[in-house]
Amino acid sequence: MNQNLTTDRQTFVTHLECSITGERYEADQLHGLSRAGRPLLVRYDLDAVRSAVSRDTIEARPTDLWRWRELLPVRHTSNIVSLGEIETPLVPLTKSGGPNVLVKDEGRLPTGSFKARGLVMAVAMAKELGVTKIAMPTNGNAGAALAAYATRCGIETIVFCPDDTPEINVREIAMQGARVWRVNGLIDDCGAIVGKGAAEGRWFDFSTLKEPYRIEGKKTMGLELAAQFGWKLPDAIFYPTGGGTGLIGMWKAFDELEKLGWIGSERPKMFAVQASGCAPIVRAFEAGEEHAERWEDASTVAAGIRVPKAVGDFLILRAVRESGGQALAVGDPAILKAVDAAAKQDGLLLCPEGGATLAAYHQALNIGLVDEDDKVVLFNCATGLKYPMPEAPQALDRTRPIDFDAL
Ligand SMILES: *Cc1c(COP(=O)(O)O)cnc(C)c1O
Repeated sequence: MNQNLTTDRQTFVTHLECSITGERYEADQLHGLSRAGRPLLVRYDLDAVRSAVSRDTIEARPTDLWRWRELLPVRHTSNIVSLGEIETPLVPLTKSGGPNVLVKDEGRLPTGSFKARGLVMAVAMAKELGVTKIAMPTNGNAGAALAAYATRCGIETIVFCPDDTPEINVREIAMQGARVWRVNGLIDDCGAIVGKGAAEGRWFDFSTLKEPYRIEGKKTMGLELAAQFGWKLPDAIFYPTGGGTGLIGMWKAFDELEKLGWIGSERPKMFAVQASGCAPIVRAFEAGEEHAERWEDASTVAAGIRVPKAVGDFLILRAVRESGGQALAVGDPAILKAVDAAAKQDGLLLCPEGGATLAAYHQALNIGLVDEDDKVVLFNCATGLKYPMPEAPQALDRTRPIDFDAL
């Protein structure tokens, strides 16, 4: 086991709080959504955290996700089911991006996507709170991460995904020990099945933001960025937004870091990136609404952000507005072009959702929302290897004369 995890410890969680009404909920109990039907946020005794650890203490630890343990909810390290959650690198995208563009490459995490951050935390908490059976709707990567961590600690999982979910994701989920069902609908249709079973007491509902701890796991992206940038944040962050867990988590992380006195009050402009074929947050942003209506007939190659309706919509919109950022939509052709450019010019294979952030960056540059001097972070949330690639059919017959000039 990683040396970070060898001692059992105390957490600094004080309580949970409804994200819309502020109503308090007790820690150490199993919770879903708040009574108002909205996500619960975990609150910490940050003064106690400040006396217990410093930035230097954190920096002296191995650079994995658990170096942040005082700002995470797990009470007993024995409940952590680790698959090796490393700090992900910032990779310059000089040619297809620009001189100040960095990709936070989340494809290096266990199960090949940043869903591992959220699920490693949520599963540890489920284990801590005695859950034995979990169900989840997924577009692929969340289901895979859930299957991996839950299987590892003996929790039973049932996963529902749209029937056009990328084949590799469905097989990965099955391979890692979950029971996976393809459903003839979208992710929220799958969510309705999960909700019905949960209401009947059949399982615990692990839908995005319907349990409180995935945000805490995703929060580590913001904590890592602060440390990687020398406790000063970048100028802009482009985040491919489905349920918005990561954007909400990072915004929460920045707030906690400021309260600890570890960063100042400056914030990056947060850009919520969606696909033109499924852009409920962009539509709500542009209309000045606080909540986003369901997007009908959602369709895009970027499956991870094909989320027609998000329970945390108001939290995404609030963070984007407070940051001075914007919600941006990009079309599938621009997404595929960006994936191609990053691979061919910079040798970095992005997932389509990562391609969307690169396309949105160029859009933001063109309309003057950012400029070339701005330090920018694009999120590549999964390894490009999980997605279909154009075929490369050339073959060579070694028994015939070879035209070397034509190779
Ligand atoms: C889930 C997912 C997203 C969206 O993340 P949210 O935090 O739910 O908005 C983006 N890209 C990929 C590859 C994903 O799997």
